[in-house]
Amino acid sequence: MQNRTYTAEAEPGDEVTVAGWVHEIRDLGGIAFLILRDATGKIQVKFEKDEMDEDLVETGLGVSRESVVSVSGAVEEEPRAPTGVEITPESLEVLAPADPELPLDPSGKVDAEISTRLDNRTLDLRKEEVQAIFEIRAEILRAVREYFREVDCTEITTPKIVATGTEGGTELFPITYFGQEAFMNQSPQLFKQLMVGSNLERVFEIGPIFRAEEHNTPRHLNEATMIDFESAFIDHHEAMDVCEGTLKAAYQAVAENCEAQLSLLGYDDFEPLDESFPRLTYEEAIERVNATGEVDEQLVWGDDLSTEAEKALGEDIGSHYFVTDWPSEIKPFYIQDHDDDPDLSKGFDLMHPRMELVSGGQREHRYENLVAGFEQQGLDPEQFDYYTKMFRYGMPPHAGWAYGVERVVMTMLGLENIREAVLFPRDRQRLSP
Ligand code: ATP
Ligand code: MG
Repeated sequence: MQNRTYTAEAEPGDEVTVAGWVHEIRDLGGIAFLILRDATGKIQVKFEKDEMDEDLVETGLGVSRESVVSVSGAVEEEPRAPTGVEITPESLEVLAPADPELPLDPSGKVDAEISTRLDNRTLDLRKEEVQAIFEIRAEILRAVREYFREVDCTEITTPKIVATGTEGGTELFPITYFGQEAFMNQSPQLFKQLMVGSNLERVFEIGPIFRAEEHNTPRHLNEATMIDFESAFIDHHEAMDVCEGTLKAAYQAVAENCEAQLSLLGYDDFEPLDESFPRLTYEEAIERVNATGEVDEQLVWGDDLSTEAEKALGEDIGSHYFVTDWPSEIKPFYIQDHDDDPDLSKGFDLMHPRMELVSGGQREHRYENLVAGFEQQGLDPEQFDYYTKMFRYGMPPHAGWAYGVERVVMTMLGLENIREAVLFPRDRQRLSP
C-alpha cells in the first residue's frame, strides 16, 4: 500500500494513511473512537459526530470489529488516548469487512480453548501476546543464524524425503514416492555428517523434522523445526561450546531486541544466560538424582533419565546443564565411544531444568567401528550404504548436536504447551490447518 504509515510511527503534525484491523469501537455519544490495530500497535481514530461528514461517521462507526480499514487524516497529540496521539479522519475505506460473529475474540477479553485457537490461528495471532511469541521465535532464529556465521558455519538444507530413516525404528512416517516406499526424514543427522566430510567442514541446518511418535505430550510435536550443527575437526566438548554459544546468543538477542514482546508476556526481568552451563557426567547425574530423594526408584547405571529424574535434577541444579559420557547402549550407533571404555559414549544432552533441549556428541568416523555399531543396534549397514561408503574416503573426526526450536521457545518463555510455540502444530489429532 503506497504511503501507508505504521501506527507506531504516526507523529503529531503528520498527515497519514494508516491501515489495519478494527480492534474496538467506543461510542460515548457525541464523540466516538475507533481503535485501529496493525503489526506495530494501535491508534485511536476520533469521530466527532456533529462536526464531521455524516457518511464518514456512519461508515467508521458501523464497521464490524476485525474488519480491515484504511484511514487518512491528521495526527494530533492527545494525552488521553492510549498511545498519546489520535487521528481525526478525513476519509475511511473498508478494505475487507469481517463477519460480526467471530470464532474467537482477538481482543482477548474472552478466553478460548487451545483447539479453537489453533483452528483459527490467524485470529489468534491478532492477540499481541500471541504475536509476541512468534516475533521472539523469529529473533531466536535470526540470532542463532548470525552466531553460526560468526563461527564459520555454512547453512545447508538436506532432503526431507528419504529412503531410510536416520535410526530406523518406528518413528517414521511412510509415504509413497512414485510407487516406491519412502519416509519423511526424522533428522538431518546422516546428511549433515556427510557434509563434514566435504570441504564445507562446518555446517548448520534449520529445517523441519518428522516423527511418528504416537504419544501426545505437552513437549512433543510430530513435525518440529530442528537446529542442527555439525563440524569437522572438533570433539564433543567443542561442540558443547558452540551449542552453549548459540543459546546464549539467542537469549542475549531476545533480551536486547524484544523488550516489548517480553513485557507483553509478563517478563519485565528477563535475564540473558551469563553463567557457564555446568557439565555433569552421566554418572554424576544419576548420583545427584538419587541424592535428591525426589524419585520413587533409585537410578542404576545404564538407566535413561526418566521424566521424573530430569525434573528432580533440573530443580536441584536450577539452570541449563549438560550431561556427558552416557552409557553407549542408550546412545545411537553414530556416537563415538571412549577408546579406553567402550561402555561409555561421547554423547551429551543439554538439559533445561524442565526438559531435554539438545542431543549431541562426538561421532564415530572410523569405518569399521561405524559398521560394527550398526550391527550392534540391529540395523542393516547395507541399507545405509550411501552413508557408510563415504567413511571409506576420508571422513575427519567430527562432532555436532541438534535442538528443537519449539523447545527453546517453550522453555525460554515458560510456555506450558509446545503447541504455543508453533504456528500450525502437527500432533496426533491435528493435520489441519
Ligand atoms: P525426547 O527424549 O525429549 O523425546 P529425543 O531424545 O527423542 O527427545 P532427539 O532425537 O535427541 O530427541 O532430538 C534432538 C532434539 O530435538 C531434542 O532434544 C528436542 O529438543 C527436539 N525434539 C525431538 N523430538 C521432538 C519432538 N517430537 N517434538 C519437538 N521437539 C523434539
Ligand atoms: Mg535426545
